[in-house]
Amino acid sequence: MILTAEVGNFNLVNTYFYIDDETRHGFLIDPGDEGDKLLKICAENNFTIEKILITHGHYDHIGAVNQIQYALNIPAIMNVNGKIYAENPQWNCSIYVGDEIKLGKITFLDDGTQINLEKNPNFGVKMIHTPGHTLDGVIYYSKNDKVAFVGDTIFKNSYGRYDLPGGDSKTLFNSIRTKILTLPADTILLSGHTPATTVDAEKIFF
Ligand SMILES: [Zn+2]
Repeated sequence: MILTAEVGNFNLVNTYFYIDDETRHGFLIDPGDEGDKLLKICAENNFTIEKILITHGHYDHIGAVNQIQYALNIPAIMNVNGKIYAENPQWNCSIYVGDEIKLGKITFLDDGTQINLEKNPNFGVKMIHTPGHTLDGVIYYSKNDKVAFVGDTIFKNSYGRYDLPGGDSKTLFNSIRTKILTLPADTILLSGHTPATTVDAEKIFF
């Protein structure tokens, strides 16, 4: 099951609970803000979150990571290129919007790493590096469920900004064309800021 929670103050972000129906264990993707609300959803639904998965290190995707890690004592995963975003409020842009964010306990993984649940090793996602919006941008892809959590790399009818630290337009469009639009056409794309779309629907734009 996939449950979406919109969190944030002026910049709303989609936080996703990607949960195995059988065991109710799962992943929390991009807890950007409102940690109390996200923890309440876990408790009310009896979810056991095994890992936090971060699509990229912008403030609006990581704002509640420290709080939830502390509350649940679980790892938080970023791509290996994410260190500077985790540690530097200028790079994660939190310095421009409010409290500075620094993440201290991140597990950095390489492109292509398969991340499975401990409780059910058949349930998992693959980290696929899709830089361009940021240096550390990734999507988390489940072949079984035909779904990809794409962060801010691609949106419904649009794509991510490339003018922020580490961004680059050529790299972004290359990531979209070679890493996302090459997934099966009926793959559902769940982004950080828009309603769901599919690979097939976005192909016409690129
Ligand atoms: Zn972003």
